Formats: sequence, structure tokens, C-alpha cells
Amino acid sequence: MPGPASRAEGLVRLEAFLPHAGRDYAARRNHDHGPQARGNVSVLSPWIRHRLVTEPEVVAAVLKLHAPSACAKFVQEVCWRTYWKGWFEQHPDAWTRYRSGLDRLVDRLDRDAALAERYRQAVEGRTGIACFDAWAGELAGHGYLHNHARMWMASIWIFTLRLPWELGADWFLRHLADGDPASNTLSWRWVGGLQTRGKHYLARAANIAEYTDGRFDPRGELDEGAAPLPADAPFERQPPRTPARPQPGVRTGLLMTLDDLHPESAFAASPGIDWTAAAFLDAPDARDVLPAGTVARAFRTGALADAGRRWTAASGLQADHAAATSVPECVDWARAHGLRQVVAPHACVGPIQPVLDALGPALDAHGIALVQWQRRWDVAAWPHAARGFFHFREHIGKLVADCDDMNLSA
Ligand SMILES: Cc1cc2nc3c(=O)[nH]c(=O)nc-3n(C[C@H](O)[C@H](O)[C@H](O)COP(=O)(O)OP(=O)(O)OC[C@H]3O[C@@H](n4cnc5c(N)ncnc54)[C@H](O)[C@@H]3O)c2cc1C
Repeated sequence: MPGPASRAEGLVRLEAFLPHAGRDYAARRNHDHGPQARGNVSVLSPWIRHRLVTEPEVVAAVLKLHAPSACAKFVQEVCWRTYWKGWFEQHPDAWTRYRSGLDRLVDRLDRDAALAERYRQAVEGRTGIACFDAWAGELAGHGYLHNHARMWMASIWIFTLRLPWELGADWFLRHLADGDPASNTLSWRWVGGLQTRGKHYLARAANIAEYTDGRFDPRGELDEGAAPLPADAPFERQPPRTPARPQPGVRTGLLMTLDDLHPESAFAASPGIDWTAAAFLDAPDARDVLPAGTVARAFRTGALADAGRRWTAASGLQADHAAATSVPECVDWARAHGLRQVVAPHACVGPIQPVLDALGPALDAHGIALVQWQRRWDVAAWPHAARGFFHFREHIGKLVADCDDMNLSA
């Protein structure tokens, strides 16, 4: 299990991992020693994904202890998340196309008994491929998988089991405590050879044996010669959205979402705001077509509750813990508190964004402004994420040089 979904826990784990985030991490990170021996990686992703702990905080802490050259690999991995989010931000159709494909496949599962059975065998860990079946159990029971296991599983799902990638991506997203639309969708696309045209990731038995230290050896069980998935149509690029600023001195409500659960940053960045109320837009499983996994749902519930407690401590006001998950509920909440503006963290491409896009005009009809704030980190990084990671990597040095104040809004 990933552990308590609180910022305090995330900070404790960060502190404990810091000594290992240098050359130690670069040398050992690719090994998957199993769920009882995770010391070579940070397992911070559930906390970072929901921004209980933020990317600039993690990078700043690591750079205080290690020379930039020693921790370059760890910093680069943290920046992979930023890169995927920035790329997704500028290619939102990658999400809508995935979601419509998924909807069609979920319908097909009701009609196609053979596909449904192969799907069930995979997600229930009954494929007969020992490593895959063990990782399926780990995903359900722990809500976490090592990065290498995610790559191997996605590859086996697509190229050996020949199941549609969208169903696998959805399975991960619902069960991972760090389930993140950008990192997950784009990593699955990358494994399949869709994201980097014609370049796919093939799981190989020898590589699995080496990096699981011999725990698994699926020799003869994998399709190690499969071709990449056929290319899909390119996505049109949209520039990142422009950040907005809240207005001081008017009754303001904070609408928290699972995309960013560090509301203290919003206060620190915006002095003079008349914070009057707070609510949660997300419900722990509002995003899913099929039900969320137990561990992931518990993590999301805990993370929202933790943000509510911290909001109360910082503002002296209660959070309306009953989540306002629909546009009409949010409008009712804002009107009931006599708000003139609602401030929400920028909704990343994913299930929250269409809700906020619909909420803006609905609030506006009642004279209430919707302001989506963005962190400086995202504003500085995302424009460089329109192309491949190697282009983005050239900008990491400048990004992390300023990471101390990057937690705040632009
Ligand atoms: C098929 C597939 C699906 C994935 N789905 C998700 C997902 O839904 N949510 C998610 O957060 N990550 C996802 N990842 C990325 C990566 O596997 C996890 O972020 C990482 O394994 C988290 O473990 P950690 O915290 O121990 O990482 P560490 O190795 O300790 O890395 C430190 C931090 O860097 C970031 N990071 C590391 N590797 C990556 C990466 N490849 N992509 C993006 N960020 C990275 C994470 O924030 C992580 O916490 C996926 C990868 C693959 C191949």
C-alpha cells in the first residue's frame, strides 16, 4: 500500500529518500526487487501526482543535498511528469481520442464474449505468464508498480496478449494511486509505438530476468518480435492556456481538485484575497468509466480530506467536505456563499477540465468569475514540451535553477 495520503507523509518520505536521490538512484533505479524492497526508487508518485508535495519542492530538496550532476537522473525523472503534462496540455485531443476509444471498447466488452474473457484473464492475473500475473496482483493490492514493471506489463498487454491499449491504460489509471491522465495515457502510447512514431517498447524475457534479479524469467512466453501499433492521425497543437489572477478584496471561494491539493500555495501567491469558502470539485471516483481500484480510491479520499484539513488550518474556515461534483452543485455552492469569484487550480487535460470549462460560463451567468491559477513551474515548463523530451531536456537546467519560488502562481 502506498501509505497515508497526507502532505506530512509525503514530506517524511521525501526526507527519507533524499540521501538516495543522487548517484545511488541513477545506478539502481531500474531494478524491480518487488513490493517489499522499494528502497532504490522514491515511491513518491502518489504524493507528487496529486500535488500533496510539488515537483519544485522535490527538486529544491534534492538539489540542497546533491550536486546537480549527481542528482541529474532523479531530477530528469521528476521532469518527465512535467513534460508529459505539458505535452498533453498542448495536445488535448490525445485524451479525448483515448476516452472515446475507451468508451467504444467498454461497450464492446458487453458484446464480445471472447474479448471480455481475455480482458478478465489479464486484469485478474490469470494469463499464465507468471510475471504479468504477479504484477496484476501487485497493482490491485498495492496501487503501485515499479516503472520497469509498468513498461513490461503495458508491452505484454499490447504485443503478447494482443489486447487494446486503451483498456490497459484505463486499468492502470483506475488502480494506480498515482493514476495520472497525462503520464499514463502517453506512456501507454509510447510503449505501443504511437507516441514516438514507429518506436515501440518490446518487453524481453532476458531484460525482465536481469532487472527482477531472477524473480521472473518468461523465456519463450513473450512476443519479442511484434511490430509497433499502426500509426494514428497526428494531434493538432494548441498553445498552453494563459494563467489568470484572482482579484483581491472580493468574496472568494477555493475549489480544490485532485490535480493540485496544496491550497497553501494559492494563499501564499495571492495576498489580499478574501477567502470565504472552500469545496472539492472531485469525488474520488468521478473520473472513471469502470470502478476505481480500492487502493487508488482510498488514496484519493485521504488526499482530499488532508487538503481540507490544511485549508482549515491555514484559513480558519471549514472546507465544505461534501464534494460539489457537478456544475449545478458548484454554482449552488458559490451562490450560497455569496461568492464573487471562484479560484481553482488549473485543470490539467483530463476528466476535470471539461467540468471547469462548463463551470466558467455557468458561474458567469450569476456574476461570479472563475479563475484558474497556475504554478510558475508549469507556466515556465509547458511551452517547451510541445515536441520530444530531448528538446524539453535542454530547458531543465533553467527550470530547476529557479525552483525555490516555482511553487507559487504565475
Ligand atoms: C505504462 C506506464 C504507465 C504509467 N502511468 C503513470 C501514472 O498513471 N501516474 C504516474 O505518476 N506515473 C506513471 N508512469 C510513470 C512512472 O512509472 C511512475 O511515475 C514512477 O514509476 C513512479 O514511481 P516512483 O515515485 O518510485 O518514481 P521514481 O523513480 O522515484 O521517480 C521520482 C518521480 O519522478 C516522476 N517520474 C519518474 N518516472 C517517470 C515517468 N516515466 N513518467 C512520469 N513521471 C515520472 C514521478 O513523479 C516520480 O515520483 C507510467 C509509466 C508507464 C511506463
